Amino acid sequence: MFCTNCGGETTAMASFCSQCGKQLRFDGGVRTKRLERDMANKKIAGVCAGLANYLNVDVTLIRIILLTMVIAGGFGLLGYVIAWIAMPKSTLGSAPYALPPAA
Ligand SMILES: [Zn+2]
Repeated sequence: MFCTNCGGETTAMASFCSQCGKQLRFDGGVRTKRLERDMANKKIAGVCAGLANYLNVDVTLIRIILLTMVIAGGFGLLGYVIAWIAMPKSTLGSAPYALPPAA
């Protein structure tokens, strides 16, 4: 793989670019991030958890937004079902989340 910052070549396992020090990965995983349903942290189908993981935000925020949309006009529910159908299941045992803020 190549560093997105300086273009230098790095090893596939590298978390930081050896040439410029840019952090290349945030989740410790080898795979690139995909939009997929998070089976490990799901409430219904894992859509919210997967979306939160993809966007690197708190899953609670996604659920609040979704519920607001559902209550407001029903589009949220339709969107959820569409995402449920469209998003593949995560093949990871437990999807990586953003690291908790440093104490
Ligand atoms: Zn670099």
